[in-house]
Amino acid sequence: MLMLCHIPKDRKEKDNFYKQFQWLTALGNFNTLPQPNFESTQERFLNKLHHGGLLGISYRQCILKENNSYSNVNIYFFRDEAFAVAYKIKGVKYDISSPIVYKIGCEHKFRELSMKECNEKGIPHFGHCYHVYYCDICGMHKSYDTSD
Ligand SMILES: [Zn+2]
Repeated sequence: MLMLCHIPKDRKEKDNFYKQFQWLTALGNFNTLPQPNFESTQERFLNKLHHGGLLGISYRQCILKENNSYSNVNIYFFRDEAFAVAYKIKGVKYDISSPIVYKIGCEHKFRELSMKECNEKGIPHFGHCYHVYYCDICGMHKSYDTSD
């Protein structure tokens, strides 16, 4: 099923939407990319898109070094990272055969936490079949239950 995602326009809802991305150090504005960001590949973006979990798409116009001009950029937000996608300018048109891709957010290094470490960090842990993974760089954690 195709699901249309959008970033809320209401200021309070918009702020709440972005609060879930603790791996961002700066949200940026309409003319800049969020921080941190790194050059990436279309393969990495398409792999993420294929596996689902798209939460919202933000449209911006940023000056990208590849174009040295304002460029239309779509930013695809997932739970643990985002990707900015734009196209190189060829003449007066965008060349859709040459995408520019930036990965946005922490380059997570997840490790599994023990029950004791979860307690110390205030992260819920529900037993031996429950696994909690934590990124020491940004503090993001995710968990799953193998007893289901
Ligand atoms: Zn991280």
